[in-house]
Amino acid sequence: MSKKPGLTVLAGPTAVGKGTVSTYIRDNYPEVWLSVSATTRAPRPGEVDGVHYFFKSKEEFEQLIADGELLEWAVVHGQNTYGTLKSTVDKAIAEGRSVLLEIDLQGARQVKAAVPDAQFVFLAPPTWDEMVRRLVGRGTETPEEQQRRLETAKLELAAEPEFDHTVINDDVRRAADELVSLMGLTPHPHLPE
Ligand code: 5GP
Repeated sequence: MSKKPGLTVLAGPTAVGKGTVSTYIRDNYPEVWLSVSATTRAPRPGEVDGVHYFFKSKEEFEQLIADGELLEWAVVHGQNTYGTLKSTVDKAIAEGRSVLLEIDLQGARQVKAAVPDAQFVFLAPPTWDEMVRRLVGRGTETPEEQQRRLETAKLELAAEPEFDHTVINDDVRRAADELVSLMGLTPHPHLPE
């Protein structure tokens, strides 16, 4: 039995496809409000400020922390800082929207402490080998960085029991539909590919 959440947190190991599943939901489920995080990371080609992230300088991010503006924040992969803006999430919940946060495990634990009745969903890879294949295949990290992320992923996989539900990302659309169902929404019929 799933909780009746206004707020659902999706987390899971690196390279499991959290970004792909949440992008799919953003593009296909306008009834879900996907939170836009703040980050100190530089934009990748095609990323738009305010759509994919709010891109911040280190100083601006520190100010958000100092002003208590963040529901959670974390340094991810020992590199950049990411955080969820309290005001935007509160507003969406107040408007009765179904809110989805796609964040890392450290952040998910902070949200659990702050909002225990949120729903926590762990996105898991079908197999470890498949996860390695995805991480190497996307080619956005150096081999050293890939190795570091795989080490982190091993630890992250062990966190699954902390979550209310596990969704296996064997297929993006299927996983997205399962997540949407857990959020209490009705999956849309899809046209065949
Ligand atoms: P990327 O830089 O590839 O967009 O994201 C890297 C990681 O940062 C992903 O694992 C993503 O879940 C995590 N992340 C994105 N936004 C947030 C956030 O607001 N808070 C936390 N804690 N992690 C985030």
